[in-house]
Amino acid sequence: MRPFTWLAPDTTEEAVALLREHGSGARVIAGGQSLLLAMKERTVGPSHLVSLGGITGLAGVTTEPDGALVVGAATTYAALTRAALRGWHGVLSDVAGDLADRPVRNRGTIGGALCAADPRFDVPAFAVGVDAVLRISGAGGDRTLPAGEFLLGNGLTAIGQDEILTAVVLPPPATWDAVVFEKFRHRVFDAAIVSATCALRRGSGATPAAVRVTVAGATATPVVLAVDAGATGVHAGEVAAASVLPDATDEATRYRRELVRTLVRRTVDRARTQQGSA
Ligand SMILES: Cc1cc2nc3c(=O)[nH]c(=O)nc-3n(C[C@H](O)[C@H](O)[C@H](O)COP(=O)(O)OP(=O)(O)OC[C@H]3O[C@@H](n4cnc5c(N)ncnc54)[C@H](O)[C@@H]3O)c2cc1C
Repeated sequence: MRPFTWLAPDTTEEAVALLREHGSGARVIAGGQSLLLAMKERTVGPSHLVSLGGITGLAGVTTEPDGALVVGAATTYAALTRAALRGWHGVLSDVAGDLADRPVRNRGTIGGALCAADPRFDVPAFAVGVDAVLRISGAGGDRTLPAGEFLLGNGLTAIGQDEILTAVVLPPPATWDAVVFEKFRHRVFDAAIVSATCALRRGSGATPAAVRVTVAGATATPVVLAVDAGATGVHAGEVAAASVLPDATDEATRYRRELVRTLVRRTVDRARTQQGSA
């Protein structure tokens, strides 16, 4: 690991000013679970690390008057797992509690997972799946971006060099009546090979008013699928397999395509069952 200077700002504004001052040599560090690994492997070698650990208000969960859930970017997985989240917001707690191992969950943050933009990570997949909005602060002011527009590729995001992701906002509970997240991994501590999220809004009859299906891990960024609201799980699985990985010419891609098909079928079926019994 190359030598670096540790900077510990007290506010987001101070952190942004430090990023600006030190330019491309500066990197934000949250839990360090991805960044320190990359520094040890020397794929990155920042001269300055701007720590988010001392910034008040960047960690924790609050609720907006309309019920939207605001999760501070520096909130750890462990804190999310302990948070008493209601309705489908609780699925985020389940996602946070069912990844990696305890040391990673104790230090890794929701913002770090999004900014690392690894296609296998669970929280970015879930954020796109429920159509979460991200809050970003920078020298040019504050802005918001849907999670699906934030993730641009493996390790690539829409965040600027002197910007900080400050919060992830899950839409109000009434947005969805059922949310189901499923993933496939080889061993319990492995990252997912493929994950799927189904977010469903109930209609007046048996057919849902809206079904949002998102597949992650199989491609560089999560894919949101146009699935007919009345589609069965089997049909949604077929649509997903054909559109996410259309050219499955080798064994590994065919394997992933089967995972896409199966996980989408399961999430859609489970979401439809939940909305039926809600
Ligand atoms: C052994 C192991 C197993 C794992 N298994 C899983 C798994 O099964 N599922 C899963 O989803 N993930 C898994 N992970 C990944 C883990 O979720 C991420 O490493 C972690 O969430 C990253 O968060 P962090 O706070 O540690 O980020 P850091 O490592 O501190 O930062 C990551 C990147 O994001 C930037 N950054 C961080 N926060 C901000 C911010 N607020 N604003 C702007 N930029 C920011 C940093 O500059 C850096 O580029 C695993 C990691 C390890 C080490």
